Amino acid sequence: FSAVAPVEEEVPREPSVGELLERANRDRKPDSDEPTLIGGDIAIHSEADKNADPCTSNGCLWLKYTDGNVYIPYYIADHYSDRERAIIVRGLESFSGVSCIRFRPYQNGDHEWLSIESRNGCYSYVGRQGGGQTVSLSRQGCLYHSTVQHELLHALGFNHEQTRSDRDNHIRVLWENIIDASFNKTIDTLNQGTPYDYNSVMQYERYAFSKNNLPTMEPIPNSNVSFGQATEMSKNDIDRLNRLYKCCKFPVPKANMFKCYVNVSFYNFLLWKVADFRKDGMEKMAMLEIWRSERANTQRHVCV
Ligand SMILES: [Zn+2]
Repeated sequence: FSAVAPVEEEVPREPSVGELLERANRDRKPDSDEPTLIGGDIAIHSEADKNADPCTSNGCLWLKYTDGNVYIPYYIADHYSDRERAIIVRGLESFSGVSCIRFRPYQNGDHEWLSIESRNGCYSYVGRQGGGQTVSLSRQGCLYHSTVQHELLHALGFNHEQTRSDRDNHIRVLWENIIDASFNKTIDTLNQGTPYDYNSVMQYERYAFSKNNLPTMEPIPNSNVSFGQATEMSKNDIDRLNRLYKCCKFPVPKANMFKCYVNVSFYNFLLWKVADFRKDGMEKMAMLEIWRSERANTQRHVCV
């Protein structure tokens, strides 16, 4: 008689976005015309960009149109296969159901657009740069729904969750295990009043940038809590996107940065005059319910 340990079924798990990005960028050899990367996958123009969130300091939002949507032209290089292209398009289109962001194909006359190409690694600039800006999604390792969403969120203005200014309240950085301390410096990021989110698609995982296979980050206070395992945008990722771009059709109960007016009728207009999201408690929730029930009749939203 011999005791046999039960064999645990291996459940195949899609690697987290952080694992995928690190794997794809680890031994990256950039061409001479490619940008320097910081934080693993953020493209910068100059050394000065290392020290601040370029989006917070210079402004980097994409422009909003009178219909309330933010149209962002994209061009997808023709070196992708149909399957690869479909993954990219799925990522681009995943924003339209949950926000006012509308990625649309490049047209003659566009002044600013995303040029999605398979260069060396996965990377993007943070926010709108002007002209064509490269979003690299290498055919070697970057073509996953999570990595596409992650790079697009960079292009929309977001940084990594672990560089948030309030990071040290939620994550302990184990500096002795990190390849390069600059990976985990905190900066003034566009948090939009949303809580720190372990499940953000912008949060790297426990072993990110490790030089010795030991953890580089652990949650506070319970170091065993799982984090950095996202395979798609979290609710918080979507909420902060809608707040940053003031997407009227997708308000969230805690929003306190904008009001939405609906000009369906004078009655609705009056309702919306008092639907001030800065009001607390039951009244705010009640107004949100009214808004939900009226939404079907909505013809046009105006952000003020
Ligand atoms: Zn990134």
